[in-house]
Amino acid sequence: MSEASGATMRETPETKMAGVPETMRAWVTEDEPGSLRLRTDEPTPRPLGDEVLVRVDACGLCRTDLHVIDRELPQHLEHVVPGHQIVGTVLQRGADAHRFAVGDRIGVAWLRRTCGRCGPCRSGAENLCQRSQYTGWDANGGFAEYAVVSQAFAYRLRSAIDPVRTAPLLCAGIIGYRALNRAALPDGGLLGIFGYGSSAGITAQIAHARGARVAVSTRGTGNRDRARDAGAVFVGDATAAMPEPLDSAIVFAPAGDLVPLALRATRPGGTVVLAGIHMTDLPSIRYEFLFGERDLRTVTANTRADGEALFRLAATLELRPAVTEMTFNRIAEAANGLRSGALSGSVVFAGWD
Ligand SMILES: [Zn+2]
Ligand SMILES: [Zn+2]
Repeated sequence: MSEASGATMRETPETKMAGVPETMRAWVTEDEPGSLRLRTDEPTPRPLGDEVLVRVDACGLCRTDLHVIDRELPQHLEHVVPGHQIVGTVLQRGADAHRFAVGDRIGVAWLRRTCGRCGPCRSGAENLCQRSQYTGWDANGGFAEYAVVSQAFAYRLRSAIDPVRTAPLLCAGIIGYRALNRAALPDGGLLGIFGYGSSAGITAQIAHARGARVAVSTRGTGNRDRARDAGAVFVGDATAAMPEPLDSAIVFAPAGDLVPLALRATRPGGTVVLAGIHMTDLPSIRYEFLFGERDLRTVTANTRADGEALFRLAATLELRPAVTEMTFNRIAEAANGLRSGALSGSVVFAGWD
């Protein structure tokens, strides 16, 4: 009855439930890199097998969405709906989806599916699965009225949460959490943050809660103001020297030129983490910047365990990122603003005009 065949991908009476229209509004990538178009007649997805359909209550804008829109990441679908920080309400369930009830609040994140059988998947490193798929890249995401997700890759959220303040946790928060763990920051240590966007802001909150001090190097007065407001002990741009050697550093900006600066600012034995999925080429690095047993590490997506741990932490710390809220109608404008630097921090879409 549950054999892995097309027979399980049937529609149930629930998937045909009234109340969900046949078509929806959705932002879709266009042929031209860098552009998005609002479609009003995109077919509403149907939840098949282990999938659930959600009404998108809020969706965050991530720099990775820009990498998809601008084709800095290779094109996986000819046209795709970006958006992978979705807070939604379950409206329909596929025939094999029993984990959530209709009406439950869930989160949909970047990691969409893994093979479950390869070495990394079986050893707790599913973020390194070679057959993994991603929301808003390999399948349509949340810049739309509705979206579907496999129940196993969704996060259960409390019904009382604020969708707008929660959406950035689904990528910016999870990746920041993993980056901070990879940074091996000692208790009470000094963390350097290079590039202060959505993920960096949440990471700084977590680091402060762990008793760390945070020093920030970033472009743009908006980012620097936000870093100061968040309690950074030092804020400057890439030309400003850090006040003392860093114990660990995380580079969030997708700029390879920052890597030697971060290494040089970090004490011997310290760790530098590169948190982005895309980065411009690293320049040639003097060996003495690495020598002294400095570790240079990357972050590659996340595991579901990272996400579950971040949401437990978010509940105890009351993590509530400061967000700029906009309606879904303004997604193209917001993408341009994030690209140009006119918009900074966590941008979240909720509601349609
Ligand atoms: Zn795998
Ligand atoms: Zn993201």
